Amino acid sequence: MASVEPRGEPQGLEQDWHQRIFVNRSLALGKIRCFGFDMDYTLAAYKSPAYEALAFELLLERLVCVGYPHEILRYTYDPTFPTRGLVFDVLYGNLLKVDTHGNVLLGAHGFTFLSDPPLPRAEIWSFYPSKFIQRDNLQRFHILNTLFNLPETYLYACLVDFFSGCSRYTNCDTGYQHGNLFMSFRSLFQDVTDAMDNIHHGCLKEKTLEDLEKYVEKDARIPILLGKMKEVGKVFLATNSSYNYTDAIMTYLFGVGEAEASARPWRSYFDLIVVDTHKPCFFAEGTVLRQVNTVMAGAEDSGKLRVGTYTGPHQHCAVYSGGSSDVVCELLGVRGKDILYIGDHIFGDILKSKKQQGWRTCLVVPELSREVDIWAQEKERMELLKRLDMHLADLYQHMDGSSRGLQVINSTKREIWMPHESVVEQERANLDCASHLLSYSRKLIKRSHY
Ligand SMILES: [Mg+2]
Repeated sequence: MASVEPRGEPQGLEQDWHQRIFVNRSLALGKIRCFGFDMDYTLAAYKSPAYEALAFELLLERLVCVGYPHEILRYTYDPTFPTRGLVFDVLYGNLLKVDTHGNVLLGAHGFTFLSDPPLPRAEIWSFYPSKFIQRDNLQRFHILNTLFNLPETYLYACLVDFFSGCSRYTNCDTGYQHGNLFMSFRSLFQDVTDAMDNIHHGCLKEKTLEDLEKYVEKDARIPILLGKMKEVGKVFLATNSSYNYTDAIMTYLFGVGEAEASARPWRSYFDLIVVDTHKPCFFAEGTVLRQVNTVMAGAEDSGKLRVGTYTGPHQHCAVYSGGSSDVVCELLGVRGKDILYIGDHIFGDILKSKKQQGWRTCLVVPELSREVDIWAQEKERMELLKRLDMHLADLYQHMDGSSRGLQVINSTKREIWMPHESVVEQERANLDCASHLLSYSRKLIKRSHY
């Protein structure tokens, strides 16, 4: 959930962006009969950057374990570098920022931005004719969709930076030559993916549970929200995490400080709990539905699965493993359109549930809070840009191809777009664009009077 800072007295709609829910189509909440939740990064928000730094450190250790040079351990996680949604090109080892249509907005090879003119990697742009990629080529372009991917994103940059600068390795277009061994960017990608799987199924979860306060946000409003939802409809949890991990995280989230012992058990807030869901497969064919043994909480067999596919009626507070979205509807007696499902994974939680099952969806985007803040701060400047842009368009409309003004317009466009060559310049450009446009507008106005 987006972090919410108390902001004193309400000062109108614009003052509490953080508290708001944005919609891209109307939704009658009164018609929702069932609320579904993902757990990781939805109910359980991991603290940034402590959690990513932990995952990054464990990833480095894992890579060294499988044979990567010890020197990579010198890298430490930098939260200012990665952002969610970047694409890793496994053919050429570049991190790319791409828009919805596949246009490359920004690219980096290690920590060298592809647009840095004097640097040797500048020619890499030639790998992307028209600065465009086919985003649906998933064999080549790996999209780093979730907040879990942030340490992985930074790791690609570190590894490319290390091998590119290490004298023992020779740089090639698609990887590195080391003696008679060739390490392709694709194999590097595979190693990182394997390391991610390894830590997510083991040490990352263990370390998180060892210090929940350090790594997991505890928000006292979660039990209140779920309690209210349960009064008006059914509530279920569908998470890819295992039962034992889910139980530990949810017990922490639903505990209430010193009164924890007397707190209502977290499972009582849900009509149905499904772990090991294997989303996005869960929203299609799914997997075998099994019941989880929760009777002996804390005992050796707690969390173990019962043998065989579960075929009985829904048991309140029972925990299931696997299954599918169809099974959830069946057990709860609801239809897809009655459900509002809340998750953080645009593909695994939202697109699949919406397109394959017709569920209503709510995407948790913590970054939106900062984006909206910036938008609010820069609103006036953006309005000015928009007005100037329209003014330019108007001038353009009244010029013919031979006009000297045309050249000025083209150079204006170059001036506007050139700053996108690097992030720093782009930010500076946000501030400077208006003055650029103003000065050029003035020149254009003078010329249009010739
Ligand atoms: Mg999640």
